[in-house]
Parts: sequence; structure tokens; C-alpha cells
Amino acid sequence: MKCPKCGMDAIISESHNRVEGDKSPTDQTRLFRVLVFQCRNPQCKLRGTEIGRQELAQKLE
Ligand SMILES: [Zn+2]
Repeated sequence: MKCPKCGMDAIISESHNRVEGDKSPTDQTRLFRVLVFQCRNPQCKLRGTEIGRQELAQKLE
């Protein structure tokens, strides 16, 4: 992922898991790995702020 402001490749500043469907027994439970991207360009106004996120579906064992 690239920064929309300066075009530099973003870094992953944070990652966590998100669970979907665990509130109801009839819904299928799905697990996602959430990656939060930040600009690392010191010259960029968006540095240190979240510029996007990506969700990767994980297999449940
Ligand atoms: Zn930037």
C-alpha cells in the first residue's frame, strides 16, 4: 500500500485480529487479521496517521 499523499510505500503500524459472527450461534465465525498502514515519510503531512487498512481472512482450525 502506498501513501495517497506522497506515494511512498506505507509500513504496517499495527495489526490485530477481528472476529465476525461470534455473537450468534447460527452465523459462521470468521477471523480476520487487520493490518493498519502508516506513512513513514518524515516530510509527509500524513506521517504517523492511518492511511488505510487491509483485512486478511484467516482459516479457523
Ligand atoms: Zn505520505
